[in-house]
Formats: sequence, C-alpha cells, structure tokens
Amino acid sequence: MTTKTRDAVKYMRRWEPTIRATKMARMLGVTKARIRAILVDENLPTKVIAKEVFQCIVCSTILDKNINFCSDECHQKHFYLTTGCLQCGSPITMYRRQYVRKAEEGERTFCSIPCKHQWYWDNEPTRMGRWN
Ligand SMILES: [Zn+2]
Ligand SMILES: [Zn+2]
Repeated sequence: MTTKTRDAVKYMRRWEPTIRATKMARMLGVTKARIRAILVDENLPTKVIAKEVFQCIVCSTILDKNINFCSDECHQKHFYLTTGCLQCGSPITMYRRQYVRKAEEGERTFCSIPCKHQWYWDNEPTRMGRWN
C-alpha cells in the first residue's frame, strides 16, 4: 500500500464526504478492500455520510438516480449543438463532435449546396472551379 494511495483516500474522504469506497477504488485503481483498510486505519468513516448527489451534467439539476441527464433535452444539448448556415443563417443542428471536427479542419457550415455555392461565389470566387 503506497502512501500516495493513502493520501489520496484521506484527501477524497475529506473533500468529498459522499464519495463511495467503490468509486474511490475505481478512481485510484486499487481494490475496494484496500480503500476500506485505509479508511479504518485512518479512523475515517467507511460508509458514506450523506447520499451521493447526482446532477444533470448539462443544467446541474439534482437527480435521484445515477443518470447523466435530467431530460432528453439536456441529453440532446450535450451531444448536439445548433449553429447557423454561414450564408443564410438558417439553424443547423449537428453532432457536437462533428462540429468540432469541422472547426478543426476549418470547414465551413452551410444548410444547403446552393448556400455553399452562393457563399463561395461571393467570398472566394477563385475556389468555385472545384464544384463546376
Ligand atoms: Zn438537465
Ligand atoms: Zn443557408
């Protein structure tokens, strides 16, 4: 048993009194029995003092179960986002991951092919040859 694990357990129990031994074990990569042994050794409670609080990861609503989202809406908000067509401003809903990838590649977002063509004609006419 390393002092590092011991310190981490003490720290976690001090600052996150609701954390379960199972969770600490998982986070620290040691067995639950080991966590319990440290807690007992340090005269720290082995049982959680208060109920662990679950929150919606989007809007922070307190949940009574260990689920990540309070509603389909928040679920949607987390995985999707709405951006606008660069040409006409129409809202476009897409996967957040997809949006990030596009942003990384400097790819522009349009609602339709006509908007895409229009934008390039107006802004970068020299590149239009690529689509003709
Ligand atoms: Zn929510
Ligand atoms: Zn458009």
